This record gives sequence, C-alpha cells and structure tokens, in this order.
Amino acid sequence: MRFVSTRGRSEPVGLSAAIEQGLAPDGGLYVPETWPRVAPLEVRGDTLPRVAAAVLAPFAEGDALAGELGAITAEAFNFPAPSVAIGAEPGLSVLELFHGPTAAFKDFGARFLASSLARIRRGRPRKLLILVATSGDTGGAVAAAFHDKPGIEVAVLFPRGRVSPLQEAQLTCWSGNVRSFAVEGSFDDCQSMVKAGLKDEALRARYDLTSANSINIGRLLPQMSYFAWASLSAWRADGGAMSFVIPSGNLGHGTACLWARHTGLPIGDVVLAHNANRTLPDYIAEGVWRPRASVSTPASAMDVGDPSNAERLFHLFPEVEDLRRAVSAYSVDNEAIRAAIRAGFERYGQVWCPHTASAAHAFWRHRDLIGAPGRWTLAATAHPAKFREIVEPLLGRKVPLPPALEALLSLPRSSTRIAADVGALLGALMQ
Ligand SMILES: *Cc1c(COP(=O)(O)O)cnc(C)c1O
Repeated sequence: MRFVSTRGRSEPVGLSAAIEQGLAPDGGLYVPETWPRVAPLEVRGDTLPRVAAAVLAPFAEGDALAGELGAITAEAFNFPAPSVAIGAEPGLSVLELFHGPTAAFKDFGARFLASSLARIRRGRPRKLLILVATSGDTGGAVAAAFHDKPGIEVAVLFPRGRVSPLQEAQLTCWSGNVRSFAVEGSFDDCQSMVKAGLKDEALRARYDLTSANSINIGRLLPQMSYFAWASLSAWRADGGAMSFVIPSGNLGHGTACLWARHTGLPIGDVVLAHNANRTLPDYIAEGVWRPRASVSTPASAMDVGDPSNAERLFHLFPEVEDLRRAVSAYSVDNEAIRAAIRAGFERYGQVWCPHTASAAHAFWRHRDLIGAPGRWTLAATAHPAKFREIVEPLLGRKVPLPPALEALLSLPRSSTRIAADVGALLGALMQ
C-alpha cells in the first residue's frame, strides 16, 4: 500500500515514510492510493487491539511496520473502549473513548503514532525532536504518549495562563524526554514558533524534526479501529450495520469513520456533530466552502473554523453531492449543548462532556428530521470530568476525576517560561 498526497504533487510513499513526514512535501495530506476491501467475515479477533491490527493490515502491506501492527496496537490500545447501552432508547449506545491516560479519544491516535514512530526510528543515529503547539488537549495526549519513548524528544508549547488547570497539569507533569514551554503569548504564537522551529537550520543540524499534529496519517488510521470494533461487535451479534454520531472539529474523527465504512466495514449512517463552528454543515447545506476564524464554545476541542482534514474528505468525495449522500452534518449551538448535558442526565442518567452532548443533540435532531432506525452509537470523546467547570453547574453535582487523571495530577510539575519568540525557543532547545 502506498500513500499519495491530496494535492497530487508528491511521490507516493509507504506507511512508515508517510508517518515520519507528517505533511506531504507538496503541503497536502497523505491518503491511501487505493482502497483495500475488508470483508467483515474475515476480520478475526475478539479484542479491540486484534481487530485493529487486522483492519489496518492492508494499509501497512509492503511496509516495515507490517509485521509489527499486532505489537503496536496491543501497546497503544491498552485501555478499554466500552459500549454502554442506553436503556431508555432501544438501539442507542454510547462508545466511551475516554478511558486512556489523558481521558480523551486523542489518546488512540497519539499512542498509535508514538508506538509506530518509536519502531520506525529504531537504530537511527540521530534523535527525533517532535515540536507540538497546543491550545490544551492535543499536547497532553502527545506528551503522555511519547513519554519515555527511546530516541525521541518532545517539546510542547502552550499559551501560559490560557489552558485549564487540569490541562496545564497534563502538559507539565513530565520529565526526561518531554519538555513543556509556557509561552507568554497566544496559541497562534505557539503555532508560529513551531513552524519557524521546524525550518531552523541550527536545530535541523542537531535533530531530525517533525510535528505530531492531527494531520499525520499515523493519528488518523488508528481512529478507524474503534469504529471497526464497535460495528463488528454489533454485526457479529445480529448481522446489522451500526450508525455513528461523531463530535467533529478538525474532521479527523469523522474522516476515520468514513474511511472505515469505505473499506467495507458494517457501518450505516454517519452523522457529524459540529458546534457553532459550522463550516462543514454550511458547506453541505449551501455547496460553498467558506473556512472562517473559529469561535469559542463550551465544546472547545471542536472550535475549528478551517478544518484541515476537509482536504481528505474532498479527496474521497470530490463533489458536494457525493458528500451529501455520504454524511449528514449538524451545527449545535451553545445553549443546545448545555441543554443536552442536562437532558442526558435527566433522561438517561448519563454524564456527558460538552462534545458528547453535541453528538446527542445532533442524534435527536436527525431522528426527528428523517428518522433513525437500526442501531446507533454516539462517540463519547472526552471524560466529563475534564470539562467539570461546565458540566458540574448544569447538573448540580460533582463529577469525580477518573483514576488516570487523578494519578497525573499528583506528579510534580515543571515547565519553562519563554517569550513568544522563536529565538527564545531555540535558545532553550539548543542548550
Ligand atoms: C479533538 C476532539 C474532537 C474533534 O475531533 P476532530 O478529529 O478534530 O474532528 C471532539 N471531541 C474531543 C474531546 C476532542 O478532543
């Protein structure tokens, strides 16, 4: 299997090279050159890591990682992803993707990427330095995933004072190969510093450099795994398809589900739930792609006005008509998110984070509008305790932290304060 750039002006490469490069040289995103067919009957395995290894095998064919997929998925997906049936709504389940070390589904992608890169880089004489800018969640997942991986160093940049206390703890509790930098500036400053750092000659003379942002195919492919796992579990029970509602921002998550369906997995309808950042729902309604600045909402991990993975969606569905047939998309406003958090608790006894609540609202709307027969799954992307300052006042009760987060919080903190200037970053990294 080879991967080509969405912009069509880069050489096709194998999986390892696509993962190591991140972005294709022409600035596009890597996508599979051809689509493997996955026959549900032939997928063996009764655990998520085994199903993942089987479903991802065709994407690694001919690559050095092919023989290692079993070990990678076992190491990366070492936490459960339970599907919880909602008793009050026959056919409806919630897939809890937040039982990893940082309590959000980004652990799946970050941990698979880390396990893959550690193997790809084995035996290389130079160290790989990963530069990540984060507005909160991604940096924590990446730092946790790469901590202690040999041959790899990580520098995480976050805007000082602009991440939640919990996020700050997740960003600064590391030592050894993970360093965190509290930048006196905004997230955009952090991002420009990373971009400039990746191009810096002196830094490149000392390290191999890459980024770990969500456009890396090594973060996208593993997200197919739990859609495969949840849909196959249902299919094995009764031969039916599973439909999914997915909280979406940068569209990595939704793209992974559509890719999983495209390979032949038993997935029915796909509904994308966006917050007030409605670039994709507007595109589907109006047929005009109008990226815009993001607005801030209670479902902050979905605050993306110019989703980078849209390029992968358009590659698969070049015409808006094709996309309309493939997915439905809803924009959920802030008040509806809050109402869904309350309703989830009152109707079902479920405590949801704002992202998961957006998915529930989109499901209700979809069902009212066109009906939703068969089995449905809401992807629950973060543990509600990660957003307890929003959830607790709405429910009037405490939301306890999961043990994994509790454990992170008790570690000592360390970070380096630096000016919002690439010189300051380089100075610190070159010491
Ligand atoms: C990143 C994230 C999303 C959105 O996923 P995309 O791949 O960016 O569409 C949804 N919920 C949570 C909790 C996230 O961290």
